Amino acid sequence: MEKTPSSESSERIIGAGWQKLATFLTHAGRQKPGRDGSFVNPPIERGSTVVFPTVADMEAQGARAYEHELVYGAMGNPVQHELERVIAALEGGQHTQVVNSGLAACTVALLAFLKGGDHLLLPDSVYGPTRRFAVNFLARFGVETSFYPPRANEAELRAYMKPHTAVIFAESPGSHTFEVQDIPLLARMAHGVGARLLLDNTWGIGAFQPFTHGVDVSIQALTKYPAGHADVILGAITVQKPEDWRALRRAAIELGACGAPDECWLTLRGLKTMAVRLAQQARSAYALAQWLESRPEVACVRHPALPSCPGHAFWKRDFQDASGLFGVELAAGITQEAMIAMLDGLKLFSIGASWGGYESLVLPTSGGLTRHHEEGFPSGAAFRIQVGLEAVEDLQADLARGLAGLAVK
Ligand SMILES: *Cc1c(COP(=O)(O)O)cnc(C)c1O
Repeated sequence: MEKTPSSESSERIIGAGWQKLATFLTHAGRQKPGRDGSFVNPPIERGSTVVFPTVADMEAQGARAYEHELVYGAMGNPVQHELERVIAALEGGQHTQVVNSGLAACTVALLAFLKGGDHLLLPDSVYGPTRRFAVNFLARFGVETSFYPPRANEAELRAYMKPHTAVIFAESPGSHTFEVQDIPLLARMAHGVGARLLLDNTWGIGAFQPFTHGVDVSIQALTKYPAGHADVILGAITVQKPEDWRALRRAAIELGACGAPDECWLTLRGLKTMAVRLAQQARSAYALAQWLESRPEVACVRHPALPSCPGHAFWKRDFQDASGLFGVELAAGITQEAMIAMLDGLKLFSIGASWGGYESLVLPTSGGLTRHHEEGFPSGAAFRIQVGLEAVEDLQADLARGLAGLAVK
């Protein structure tokens, strides 16, 4: 049965789930408990060459490149490996490979688990650059891609599967349109034909445990909430099975994918405060989403914790909390130009790509979306909100001023 937003919130307090991560995140990534006369935080060690006492030592260490050991700068550095241990624990997996961006996490993961002649299934709501990588790049290497509707049921999905389907990719909720996907169903479908399920879990970090829901490979843009301050580009790929780790680690080494020490260090620092940042951002975003849904200028709000969001039931079943990014579609009759003038006039929301930082952002999402399938969103002028750490009353007042200027009849 569908519930109203208010009874929903009494059942699950948005933002409270993050509290469970606070102790872990405060202490994670510090091998020394800080009682040995050293600084609280680890040092940043920059380097290419690693030196060894003997040739035999160098060869022995080289053979352990799959075990997060220090071998050569392009294969990782101490802070990167520390960050990898923290992300693996946060995602509930066994091994993590950090790479230089969230997009690289998507592309390295796809390259690790696909070969020429394979078939790839991407959700129609996938992050645009991942879509373009498949269409423009993987196609040149003989990988065939099909786009499935993100909320396809079992029978519909079966129609998209091919004998050579090797990877089902998921992203939940979807980019810009926020459809929540049925991950356990996708896992069953993939495993039924010996394929793997890859998930871009950036929105669900800490709130969705990928491996308990059947995911084989979980991808994070660490650029977003983990780094948290709009000053880092970094990504991570996490797996659970030893054979998946061998394939992933081999691909990362052969592609030269790694994370720079300074970026890894800033991300480790960002993770220390992620639980408190996300708790506030999630609470504010949910409050704003509920308020926006009641406004006459708004046709619909796409926030996974709202019963009106496509796939809300999957969010309720599978997620422990929500994060601070959601979509808004304006009422019929409000033009793209009027919406853009409204966004331009906001004082506290900057206009820009990316999300997960401490500051609020908006971005138009109507007008430029590529989709193979319908789903009807956005049919009107639409935009995306990343809610930052500002006081929620100030954000609401800013949006109220903007919406009032739209003059809805
Ligand atoms: C931002 C984002 C990425 C890419 O991350 P970058 O670090 O900016 O390359 C990938 N997937 C999703 C869902 C994202 O939001």
